[in-house]
Amino acid sequence: MEKAIVIRYSEIHLKGKNRGYFEKLLKENIKNSLNGFNYRFTAMHSRYMIDGYDENDEAAIEAKLSKIAGIHTYSRALVMDSTLENIVDAAKEMCKGKTGFFKVATNRADKRFFPHSMEVSEIVGGKLLETYHKDLKVRVKDPDFTVSVDIREDGKTFVYTENIHGIGGMPVGSAGRGMLLISGGIDSPVAGYMMAKRGMKLDAVHYHSFPYTGEAAKEKVIELSRLVGEYNGGIRLHVVPFTHIQETIHEKCHEEYMITMMRRFMMRIAERLAQKRGGQAIVTGESLGQVASQTIESMTSSNSVVKMPVLRPLVAFDKADIIKISREIGAYETSILPYEDCCTVFLPRFPVIRPNLKKVEEMEKALDIDELIGEALANVEIYEL
Ligand code: ATP
Ligand code: MG
Repeated sequence: MEKAIVIRYSEIHLKGKNRGYFEKLLKENIKNSLNGFNYRFTAMHSRYMIDGYDENDEAAIEAKLSKIAGIHTYSRALVMDSTLENIVDAAKEMCKGKTGFFKVATNRADKRFFPHSMEVSEIVGGKLLETYHKDLKVRVKDPDFTVSVDIREDGKTFVYTENIHGIGGMPVGSAGRGMLLISGGIDSPVAGYMMAKRGMKLDAVHYHSFPYTGEAAKEKVIELSRLVGEYNGGIRLHVVPFTHIQETIHEKCHEEYMITMMRRFMMRIAERLAQKRGGQAIVTGESLGQVASQTIESMTSSNSVVKMPVLRPLVAFDKADIIKISREIGAYETSILPYEDCCTVFLPRFPVIRPNLKKVEEMEKALDIDELIGEALANVEIYEL
């Protein structure tokens, strides 16, 4: 018997005819993510198996798997040829050092295998009790752990005692391409994570207002983008110089419309960059009513300058729920580092809550929008993360 990691995928089985496509994509994503490790990859019926890896790499491989969208659960297992004797040996090995209440659950996909599932469970359970009578007891209802015996179609069996949750969702690349507006805050990395988890391949854009926002603020966004990239098979970050646009708006427009105007520029530039990347959507971390600039009127104002759909996966989330996910994905500690964002530069004392679209469009007539955008786009910095 050999150590292996068994991977089970989620939702993919719902996709009927597309199943092959999703499986292929997930397989590619796993292989890309494990690039650099030595291992063997085997595709089985609705499972993948990874084995033949260096024992010292096991934790690092698991860490990678825990961030791949489309993986439902995975287990550290022992794999062997399907014989009752092997299965008993593997179960004993897996239970070494364990204490408490257990049950055995057998899944017999290989209908040629005898005895039947119930009987396998009884035999394995009996042998475990015999071997570890001091430490283990059976409790079928609510056990401390379950010894799972998974007898596969191809003559192999997996034995494992834990089922680790992956992030679920759909393989990245299966649901189009989007441009994530990423700030240094808590929300936008979470928004990016949620779309990647749903299968959308992301690029990112950050608007940087040097010297109002410094090098450290930029480094923070690079780090947050890298973190989102871990769920996205890497990410391309575009850092767009935003100072001139902001100064121009500040000079020519009403103070209370500062944020409204900025947002419209952010959207226009994001759409242009998305088009260059073959993207179909813009993604932001806005949530309804969280701040003055996130009212439905403000969202309508920023939507109206772009043709692409603007996806706001956090629109109905409370801040506490967003923070919870931020912690789970390991972004929170970085997000709360205290650096300025361009939105806090020239921040009006009383931002308009319900921007009037006519007024906005009137004010924009004083700006050479195409030139400002052209200048910003000519000076984009690109980071492959
Ligand atoms: P976050 O926590 O993501 O910063 P927030 O609650 O602070 O969000 P805002 O600052 O109003 O809200 O920003 C709303 C959204 O606009 C962000 O989630 C992000 O998608 C986008 N955004 C804000 N500032 C920038 C920036 N400097 N570069 C790119 N996108 C930005
Ligand atoms: Mg912010």
